[in-house]
Amino acid sequence: MRTPKKGLVRAEARWEAERAALAQETRRLAGAIASADAKRESQKARVVPRHLAIYEDVRRRRGGIAVARVAGGNCGGCRVGIPEAVRKRAFDPDQLAQCPNCERILYVG
Ligand SMILES: [Zn+2]
Repeated sequence: MRTPKKGLVRAEARWEAERAALAQETRRLAGAIASADAKRESQKARVVPRHLAIYEDVRRRRGGIAVARVAGGNCGGCRVGIPEAVRKRAFDPDQLAQCPNCERILYVG
C-alpha cells in the first residue's frame, strides 16, 4: 500500500522532470529567437529603406503581421478582393504592392 509520502515524492520527481524539460525548452527557444533576430537584422540591409519603413508601420498597426499572400485574387490577410493593377504589382519583385483595404504588403506564391 502506498503511503501519502511516497505519492508526494513521486509528484515532486515528476514536477522536477517537467521543470527541467521546460528549462531546456526555454533555452532552445531563446536560441531560436536570437537566431531569427540576427537573420532579420542581416536581411534589413537588403530592403529598400522606404519599403522597410512601410513594413514596420503596417506590422505595428496590424497585430504583427505586415505581409499577406494573394490567394484567389483576394488579400490573404483581410480577404478583400485585390484590384488587377495591385495584383500585377505583387508579381514584380522590385515594387511594393499593398492591399487597398488592410495595407498589408502583398506577395504571390
Ligand atoms: Zn488586406
